[in-house]
Amino acid sequence: MARVAVVSGGTRGIGAAISKALHTAGYRVAATYVGNEQAASAFTAESGIPAYRWDVGDPEACSTGLARVAEDLGPIEVLVNNAGITRDSMFHRMTFDQWSSVMRADLDSLFCMTRPVIEGMRTRGFGRIINISSINGQKGQVGQVNYSAAKAGAIGFTKALAQENAPKGITVNCICPGYIDTDMVAAVPPETLAKIVAGIPVGRLGKAEEVAEAVLYLASEKAGFITGSVLTINGAQYLANG
Ligand code: NDP
Repeated sequence: MARVAVVSGGTRGIGAAISKALHTAGYRVAATYVGNEQAASAFTAESGIPAYRWDVGDPEACSTGLARVAEDLGPIEVLVNNAGITRDSMFHRMTFDQWSSVMRADLDSLFCMTRPVIEGMRTRGFGRIINISSINGQKGQVGQVNYSAAKAGAIGFTKALAQENAPKGITVNCICPGYIDTDMVAAVPPETLAKIVAGIPVGRLGKAEEVAEAVLYLASEKAGFITGSVLTINGAQYLANG
């Protein structure tokens, strides 16, 4: 029977590419979103993948939402924690709201989304958890103390959870994309973006589909010995050792 995969923030950008790649590979996919109804409806109409609305930073909404997905599609075996936001500001001007909204969507979400599915994965002896972090969680970025801290947190989360669950057939890995051509990057001012691209040795932005292909591999049975790893996909912009 086809495995069930949940992709948070799966209706737009990198998440939409991941949802579609899993769907094409035969998974039963649920894509989540938080507020952009128009994008979610267009995504479902185009792909045939159901979209579910809840906030990944709200523990109760995650428990209820994930239970609904399991009821509709079956036990969740693949979880892609992809949803994330930025609220950029220099730290000396950053408000607590900018700090905490990023922590909530980018880091609390890992607890809220993973905690409800991990026990079932342990009982069934199979699971794939893939967390989408960022190059800026590896190297830090001016104007993104909040985001860099949250995304670095995702790396620690991955490594610890991988060790706890390795004996239970569950792998936990992290992908750190560089700059990928999505709405999030479209929000960067053009002059800044030109400077960013000039600093990418491959000479272009990455494509969401390039990240999706890596997720597809990490989700597969073939990748059972890869766990606790951090995969860099950034066109050689920054070379980190995990
Ligand atoms: P987008 O802004 O294009 O899409 C974000 C998605 O996440 C949307 O589906 C959005 O829902 C959803 N989302 C946001 N907040 C929440 C929330 N609180 N609860 C549920 N869903 C939520 O993002 P990208 O595709 O660019 O980025 C995807 C991930 O990749 C993020 O974690 C990002 O940090 C990371 N990343 C992106 C890079 C890039 O260059 N784009 C580089 C490195 C990492 P809705 O449509 O309803 O708003």
